[in-house]
Amino acid sequence: MNQVSRIPLAQLPTPFYKLNNVSAVIGRNVFIKRDDMTGVSLGGNKVRKLEYLLAEAKEQGCDVVITTGGAQSNHAMLTAACCRMLGMEPILMLKKRGVMGRKGNLLLEALMDVDVRFVDTPSYDVVYKEMDKLAEELRAQGKKPYLIPVGGSVPLGTVGYVDCAREIFEQAKAANVKIDRVICTAGSGGTLGGILLGTMLYGEGAKVTGIAVCDDPFEEITEELVNECAKILGVDVSITKEDVDVRRYYGAGYALPSREGLAAIQLMAQKEGIMVDPVYTGKTFAGLLDMCAKGEIKEGENVVFLHSGGAASLFAIDPEDVVEA
Ligand SMILES: *Cc1c(COP(=O)(O)O)cnc(C)c1O
Repeated sequence: MNQVSRIPLAQLPTPFYKLNNVSAVIGRNVFIKRDDMTGVSLGGNKVRKLEYLLAEAKEQGCDVVITTGGAQSNHAMLTAACCRMLGMEPILMLKKRGVMGRKGNLLLEALMDVDVRFVDTPSYDVVYKEMDKLAEELRAQGKKPYLIPVGGSVPLGTVGYVDCAREIFEQAKAANVKIDRVICTAGSGGTLGGILLGTMLYGEGAKVTGIAVCDDPFEEITEELVNECAKILGVDVSITKEDVDVRRYYGAGYALPSREGLAAIQLMAQKEGIMVDPVYTGKTFAGLLDMCAKGEIKEGENVVFLHSGGAASLFAIDPEDVVEA
């Protein structure tokens, strides 16, 4: 396998253990992978992708990092935090969509004294044009900007989730557990892509299910990320979109709390003392619970729930403000 440049940013390995109380309630063996504990800011999945993306930025001699997301983007906040660790200058070009004001991730960005700008558009294509324009201006000033698209879900960032899958199967092996399925969120696709590729490499036949929290074509997105990431790693793996298992549990839409998500957040909080969030991980855990209720995840199955973070949004979006689908 190819050696890919990486800057260590996360505290690894993140914990992996069985959720005994949840398992007892739903009659399945549910394990959790705590990527909400990656150790930068409030933690979360984007740190693993940034280990590769910012390594490339450093290698290219870049000093400014520009990225995007919604107003409450966890990815944008974690990019800023990782840039602070590395002494690089973050600029966030956020879509003016979602909860604004000094709340959640925007509050954390204010504390980190980050240059946050807003583009009033629903379209990332419009934002990317603005990012390109800004990059040109910065280059004219003698700076070297590095641009990261939404969620860091490019093939290089996806390598971070191949690492996570390897960790999961190593930890499961050490605990004498044979994993049947890994469940993770699909928000921009890199996490699902990396987990799927890593599970094909290290998972001994385990299944992977992505829970979509927005209305994007994740089968196609994941196919491309897996195949391109495999090329970076130099592994002989290639998939088609039929190999990607995606279930849709976004309710009324991206970042709109769902009734099932609220119930899942409450179950996790009340049985395990673990916080999942209204945008990503609450809906993903709701998907896991629904698949158990429908018998798609069978009694006795060993299933891993990847907790990808998102805590900050609990302080911007009240999960009880359910929007009916
Ligand atoms: C970004 C994010 C996800 C989704 O990961 P993708 O790689 O973008 O699909 C899941 N959970 C949290 C908390 C996130 O911030």
